[in-house]
Amino acid sequence: MELLNKCPICSSKQSENYLSAQDNLVSKDTFAIKKCSNCGFAFTSPRPDKDAISDYYVSEDYISHSEKKESIFDRLYNIIRDRNISYKLRLISDFKKGNLSLYDYGCAVGVFLDKASQKGWSVKGYEPSEKAKAIAVQSGIEIETPDQILSTEQNCFDVITLWHVLEHIHDLDDTIQKLHSLLKDDGVLVVAVPIADSWDAIKYKENWAALDVPRHLYHFTQSSIEKLFSKFGMKITSVHPLKFDSYYISLLSEKTPIFKYFAALINGWYSNYRAKRTLNYSSLIFFIQKNME
Ligand SMILES: [Zn+2]
Repeated sequence: MELLNKCPICSSKQSENYLSAQDNLVSKDTFAIKKCSNCGFAFTSPRPDKDAISDYYVSEDYISHSEKKESIFDRLYNIIRDRNISYKLRLISDFKKGNLSLYDYGCAVGVFLDKASQKGWSVKGYEPSEKAKAIAVQSGIEIETPDQILSTEQNCFDVITLWHVLEHIHDLDDTIQKLHSLLKDDGVLVVAVPIADSWDAIKYKENWAALDVPRHLYHFTQSSIEKLFSKFGMKITSVHPLKFDSYYISLLSEKTPIFKYFAALINGWYSNYRAKRTLNYSSLIFFIQKNME
């Protein structure tokens, strides 16, 4: 376990206890979430270090890495995932025209990259899980670490995507710096994260499934994303909702077995409704440009 003695965003050494949440997926252990007294950023601390964290990913339930279609729930998940992919691809092609070069950092089994390459884009991915990586490679996706790419070229991607990945990265600054170097000067970083002050996050508190401790090391808000990337001279240009996430996260967060589907529908819908003005959806996609204008 490693204790974070300063805020990963502003480096302040002052923090207060925010929440204490249970790992419902793998270990059933309880983890503390601290909140920076200076900038308000919430982070899991203490947390398993880089070597120990893999023990917390062993569950077969970690659905983003699995390709089996079994229960109705899994099937529904896959349908929604495919719709989400089309939505993500549309947002990117609205933002940047032409044959794009794209790097998906944390590409899992490569479903997104597969669809992106069908558009004629040239794609590459990175995936730390050996199991997921093997499946991606098998379906013809080229996998390289940022260091491997940087050893031969820089400024080579139009788009770098991190779909619910940023919150899993131990060496945050180091990784963002490398991705920054990999982006073309007019390139865009596309980052999706759960939003820790969305309506469903506040409603479910320590039971909010997107806290997902200890796998989620950070609990971002719109303002913490802005602060983090401004350290690298990067600027948010647009923000887009992931509207299915409020339903999915509400369902996973519900404790009452009988009414949970009904409650998840109501709470998911209400979370999206409340977010119309604030944009504080359960999950958000940020388009972040390399160079501030
Ligand atoms: Zn801070």
